[in-house]
Amino acid sequence: NIDEDIISRVYKETRQISDSINTTLKKLKAVDKSREEFVSNVSHELKTPITSIRVLADSLIGMEDAPVELYREFLSDISEEIERENKIIDDLLALVRMDKTAGANLNVAQVKINGLLELILKRLRPIAGKRNIELTFESMREVTADVDEMKLSLALSNLVENAIKYNIEGGWVRVTLDADHKFFYVKVADSGIGISEEFQERVFDRFYRVDKARSRETGGTGLGLSITKKIVLMHQGAIKLQSKEGEGTTFTVRIPLTYIS
Ligand code: ADP
Repeated sequence: NIDEDIISRVYKETRQISDSINTTLKKLKAVDKSREEFVSNVSHELKTPITSIRVLADSLIGMEDAPVELYREFLSDISEEIERENKIIDDLLALVRMDKTAGANLNVAQVKINGLLELILKRLRPIAGKRNIELTFESMREVTADVDEMKLSLALSNLVENAIKYNIEGGWVRVTLDADHKFFYVKVADSGIGISEEFQERVFDRFYRVDKARSRETGGTGLGLSITKKIVLMHQGAIKLQSKEGEGTTFTVRIPLTYIS
């Protein structure tokens, strides 16, 4: 009887251990798969501009007596592709650096959020102007918070840039700032093309774009929102979006006024 008892206990424990090994393996595989996917995405994204450059250069080389205008046109295309490659590398480096340093390396200081937002809007106003998009900022109060100024500025710039990029000619972008006793809230609302419900969760994924062609045309890398989300999370904050296709999108960022390390 005692023997049976022991055997049954050992059996039970062995099963538990085997179950937990299986769960761990599954988790490891998932991590591995997402890493593999990331690496394959990175290589694909980095290769695309290079392939275009190669095709453009090869066709120039293969042409006899090509007119100067054609040279100019192709070289300017090549230059655009180089710029694109640079942007992808910059975005990737920003992401990878943040992966490595996690939350510990935030350069936190007391920052006036109103001023930070005004500066972002001032910088982006010319781009909005080109498409006749009205860009406004409304603040309910003066907000000072413990943030990493450079990183937060990058995170919020990405949102405003997107609101301009994925907008209609003559549309609007409204940035608002509010706070309560614990958090400040930045809303970036636009009158743009919107994001249909099925894609809303995925827009924060690295390299994910709803419309590849449009994103490419506007110089997108598909990394902007993943960078923004990472920075917001590093600040112990949260980000969400509301959107309706064809009507517009609102991103809301919530960040604690005080940073607890
Ligand atoms: P990208 O470099 O392509 O802009 P992001 O990571 O910033 O990459 O955004 C991912 C995708 O989410 C975009 O390609 C676009 O399809 C969608 N998106 C982001 N912001 C908006 C917005 N304000 N309105 C509509 N679509 C948006």
